[in-house]
Amino acid sequence: MRWEKEAEALLKKVPFFVRGRVKKKVEEFVRQRGKDVVTREEMLLAKKALREQSSQVAEGFVVEGCFGGAGCPNALTSSLKLLEKIEALLAREDLTRFLQKKAGGPLKHHHQFRVALSECPNACSQVQIRDVALIGQAEIGIDPSRCSFCGECEKACEEEAVSLTAEGPQIDSGKCVACGVCARSCPEGALFIRRTGYRVLLGGKLGRHPSLAREIVPLASEEEALSLLKKVVKFYKTHNQKGERLGAIFERLGWEKSFEEILK
Ligand code: SF4
Ligand code: SF4
Ligand code: SF4
Repeated sequence: MRWEKEAEALLKKVPFFVRGRVKKKVEEFVRQRGKDVVTREEMLLAKKALREQSSQVAEGFVVEGCFGGAGCPNALTSSLKLLEKIEALLAREDLTRFLQKKAGGPLKHHHQFRVALSECPNACSQVQIRDVALIGQAEIGIDPSRCSFCGECEKACEEEAVSLTAEGPQIDSGKCVACGVCARSCPEGALFIRRTGYRVLLGGKLGRHPSLAREIVPLASEEEALSLLKKVVKFYKTHNQKGERLGAIFERLGWEKSFEEILK
């Protein structure tokens, strides 16, 4: 493959650490067009095509978890199976073909329907900017008769949501983020994890008009979360225009009204 001087000058502007790879791709592009000389024009055409290619995605959805499944000590839930079920559900719903039709062309990152799950309220997997967010939560039970007044729970709670009274521990629900740390630190079982589940939030996104996902259900079991996701997808398919994000639909129709429709 021969390179004309002007094309070579353009290639020199590419950062050195990717230059070799870009050169190979440009030559591949030119060869596919049945030519054996890289001109300035060919170089510009290749640049446009490569840029488009890199912004395209094969799937209409993404499902992400956090590292909780790999043994994180903060994990409240263990959701490998749930993540697989979510993936299967979205594949059955054929979101890829649905979005291709809606977008009227190849899918790009901003079209993808994104579900993210964190196994605890630390939310390491940036769930708040995804279409559907699932956050592992603990419901804390209190049995004051077992309390030895050691004060460990007060010390352990980063939110200062636990206070030790003469009647035993009390939790301020306005401050509590349901992380379960107080229950884990209680040596007597006076504070304990009654059940775990998922807080479900919807409508997060970045881009030109970013929004954080908002809570639709405070604590759902695995089955409830899956059944809710089915309803969310139905709503999304019914109202979607041009492959827009779920949060954009909420903004257009109203968040409250949309949540009511999903839950009915
Ligand atoms: S979200 Fe919680 S469980 Fe998941 S990796 Fe972060 S701290 Fe660990
Ligand atoms: S669950 Fe977490 S935030 Fe809530 S009271 Fe216990 S330690 Fe504090
Ligand atoms: S850690 Fe448990 S036993 Fe100790 S004060 Fe708190 S509730 Fe009571």
